[in-house]
Amino acid sequence: MLNILFSAQPERWDEYEDLLNSAFADAGLEANLSREHAPADVDYIIFAPNGPVTDFTPYTKTKAIMRLWAGVETVVDNPTLTQPLCRLVDESLTNGMVEWVVGHTLRHHLGMDDQITKQDGVWRASIYPPVAANRPVTILGIGALGAACGQALHQLGFPVTGWSRNEKDIPNITCLHGTDGLRAALLGAEVVLLLLPQTPQTENILDADSLGLLAKGAFIINPGRGPLIDDDALMAALDSGQVAHATLDVFRTEPLPPAHPFWAHPKVTVTPHIASGTRPETASKVIAANIARGEAGQPFRFLVDRKRGY
Ligand code: NAP
Repeated sequence: MLNILFSAQPERWDEYEDLLNSAFADAGLEANLSREHAPADVDYIIFAPNGPVTDFTPYTKTKAIMRLWAGVETVVDNPTLTQPLCRLVDESLTNGMVEWVVGHTLRHHLGMDDQITKQDGVWRASIYPPVAANRPVTILGIGALGAACGQALHQLGFPVTGWSRNEKDIPNITCLHGTDGLRAALLGAEVVLLLLPQTPQTENILDADSLGLLAKGAFIINPGRGPLIDDDALMAALDSGQVAHATLDVFRTEPLPPAHPFWAHPKVTVTPHIASGTRPETASKVIAANIARGEAGQPFRFLVDRKRGY
């Protein structure tokens, strides 16, 4: 019998208890899921931010920490964490991100705001949006989420360039990497999507210099993490017209304080970190399958590299 500790906000328990128990049974695991195991008895921890576990030291026989959310920046630096940490990669989470990204990209590409909010009785039949083939999109971060978004945008006809840390070869995406690759990826981009993790290397990746490389009037869409953007540089780029609009789902401080200038800025769309959430039903299955792999002696999937920070 495996002792599996659920460490998340208390209100999550009702949402997950039954789903996790049936996912464990379906995966052939005999599991005792609880919020109250003695630390020394715990085989696995299912972990989300703001739960009771903050010190991993007493979990001496724990084989892995299974994270309920995709990003790991709030736990990866925890000095007490020595156990393997797995992030969540889940098809439903990925599909949700693809839908959100495609929706916001098409909104900007088609200039939908003008049609929706500025009906003034004037029939401007000569104004057509450009076709997708003429709108280069750059995705910073082409991991699980960025690559899936890239495929969907490619299907719609957008030329897609992706940027990563390591060299990659992904069909339908022009893949660039490293410092030189970043400059080439941003030069002339008309839409920039941020799907990087938050690490010391990615902080302020969009600053005054990199924003200056984009096509004039570019669109920024950030469902990655708030610190990827230098907020002051973005405000300046919006005011100068270098950036036409920024759709921001994530922020340095969340919830975004009511007085923050982003809320009232006419060229900023704020969404409250909802681009894609964990879907309990599918997330439970992913976690159960990963535990089953570990129990079968296979390597865990989605392992976080602590040194790399994601
Ligand atoms: P992932 O699979 O780990 O992919 C991360 C990508 O970023 C990889 O392509 C990686 O390059 C690249 N990268 C990391 N550090 C880099 C650096 N220093 N320079 C260049 N490229 C770098 O992560 P994911 O599952 O796609 O998730 C991406 C992010 O989305 C998460 O970290 C989280 O912040 C965010 N997210 C947001 C929401 C929301 O609702 N807003 C929901 C889920 C996730 P390599 O491929 O070379 O490793």
